[in-house]
Amino acid sequence: MTATSTIKPLNRGLGQEAWYRPAGNEIELFEQAAQHQLPVLIKGPTGCGKTRFVQHMAERLGRKLYTVACHDDLTTADLVGRHLIGSNGTFWQDGPLTRAVREGAICYLDEIIEARKDTTVVLHPLADDRRILPLDATGECLEAAPGFMLVVSYNPGYRNLLKGLKPSTRQRFVAMSFDYPDAAAETEILATEAGLDADTAATLVRLGNALRHLGQHDLEEAPSTRLLIHAGRLMRSGLDPLSACQACLAQPLTDDPTVQAAILDVVRAHF
Ligand code: ADP
Repeated sequence: MTATSTIKPLNRGLGQEAWYRPAGNEIELFEQAAQHQLPVLIKGPTGCGKTRFVQHMAERLGRKLYTVACHDDLTTADLVGRHLIGSNGTFWQDGPLTRAVREGAICYLDEIIEARKDTTVVLHPLADDRRILPLDATGECLEAAPGFMLVVSYNPGYRNLLKGLKPSTRQRFVAMSFDYPDAAAETEILATEAGLDADTAATLVRLGNALRHLGQHDLEEAPSTRLLIHAGRLMRSGLDPLSACQACLAQPLTDDPTVQAAILDVVRAHF
């Protein structure tokens, strides 16, 4: 894994704002955290809008965003940078965290809990009043530019309970908890993101909530807003609801044919 391959630039063209439907006071909270140079921790299940929210806030605050999808092989070098060998010898290449620190950008570490424990240590002096990033490999000690903001997220689902974030890490953050949007908000999101009419969007949301209820017993993870949007997009482009829900809900959610059949029964009851 190279440092550059972990960087996902904001993948939106000019004039294409990251639309975000707020659920509560999260926008104000984030703005306050930014104003006071405090780092932010967002907890919530996968596909519930965490990344979209951070994209929206970066645009709103006019700051560049570096997103890193964390995984269990992610090393400190993937975050801060490393020496590389080029045609003129070795040179230093900043990682996404270092770039954000220098440029006063937002660095968003998605699913931080997946990263190796030692990587979170480098975050500590950045996440308190010191706001510094010591680069052992170059001997530099960078002071974060004023706009720098550290944002991390994780899914506190049952598989992550044991891994948890260390108290010494989590107590540095302004924390907020996300969940699937309520029915009215999710209907609006489906209508906007999948281009569905209000009735179909509302039906898909009811289906999603029915499956979330089922999910507590049979599914490892409940269907996210993201999955509902995918199903909605296929329906919007002409696929029949059963096929769309089979491909976008039943198959991604489980490999168990019995549970898939149960999901399709719930789909048939709605469409
Ligand atoms: P997460 O980062 O929590 O895994 P995302 O932010 O990628 O999830 O959300 C998945 C998709 O759901 C987004 O791309 C967006 O289309 C939609 N979405 C979810 N919540 C919202 C919201 N509150 N406003 C707008 N879109 C949303």
